[in-house]
Amino acid sequence: MTSAVSDTASGRPPSNVPVLQVRDLSVAYGTPRGSLGAVDRISFDLYPGESLGVVGESGCGKSSMGRGLMQLLPAGAEVSGSATLAGRELVGASDQQLRRLRGEDIALVFQEPMTRLDPLMKVSAHFVEAIRAHRPGVDKDEARHMAREALAQMGIPRTRADNYPHEFSGGMRQRIMIALGIVLKPAVVIADEPTTALDVIVEAQILDLLDRLRADERVGLILITHNLGIVAETCDRVAVMYAGHIVETGSVEQVFNDPKHPYTRGLMASTISLETTALHSIEGYPPDLVDPPPGCRFHPRCPDAMYQCREKIPEHAEPNPGQHASCYLYPGSGQPDPEEPPGTLAAALHA
Ligand code: SF4
Repeated sequence: MTSAVSDTASGRPPSNVPVLQVRDLSVAYGTPRGSLGAVDRISFDLYPGESLGVVGESGCGKSSMGRGLMQLLPAGAEVSGSATLAGRELVGASDQQLRRLRGEDIALVFQEPMTRLDPLMKVSAHFVEAIRAHRPGVDKDEARHMAREALAQMGIPRTRADNYPHEFSGGMRQRIMIALGIVLKPAVVIADEPTTALDVIVEAQILDLLDRLRADERVGLILITHNLGIVAETCDRVAVMYAGHIVETGSVEQVFNDPKHPYTRGLMASTISLETTALHSIEGYPPDLVDPPPGCRFHPRCPDAMYQCREKIPEHAEPNPGQHASCYLYPGSGQPDPEEPPGTLAAALHA
């Protein structure tokens, strides 16, 4: 399943060439109980200047997807499928190729900046190290200049480049991490819960910075978050993940105003907003990914489940142009059984 950039939503000129093409990407971890498939054959495209929000409950595979793309996974993890960044394959690339691509072409911004910054190194030294690792021809003075400019772009005074990490607030450290991520002007930035530890004012500032980066530098942004409100405010498109699968994609307007997949509907209903009068939650828990349920992985929790849902994983149907849902409720999902009303399996399961 792939879908084109939502130019009507963003108002930007059309771009038909994706900067990142992901096809059948899988990430599996070895465990004492067997292989745990955290990400299972997901596909999507990301275009220059586009922001894609990836949402879902904890453990649905969002972060494994981001780290799988960067090949930053613990020993023993396996990545398969394909992810091409501006035509270059990431999956199976050598360590040397990956070191070059990371930072230069694709960057990951993590949740906890203090764990990524060496407390004994000045902030400028982090930049000099990162820049010269990729561009050995750049001398230290030039690298420091690049550091000051990247920091200024993130709203940090150039004069503070020679401070140590502990001399900054949490929000400023996150800006430093973003500045470090973009100093070599990568084509794609993956931000994994970049504002989770921050207060709402700093969160808004960081999201604004990421959005400016997307708009001004045409960076393709993947924003991984459990916070649907952030996606609604900052993203062009959404990918909803459940149990290692992408179950729905579409523009923010489509998915938020008219969610098609029952899991997406459940997620929306369990989100608190100013209009919330009653809070719902999705019954049950995500499945064990060492031994996931057959067919649609959401079927044990789905209020619309039919018997056919446990037979085979549904294809991605397109209930609206550009909006895809992997669900037997929609024509094009494969093996539709018009005789079976939605909810027949759910009624039996929950009787
Ligand atoms: Fe999955 Fe069936 Fe529910 Fe659709 S209706 S989400 S295919 S269980």
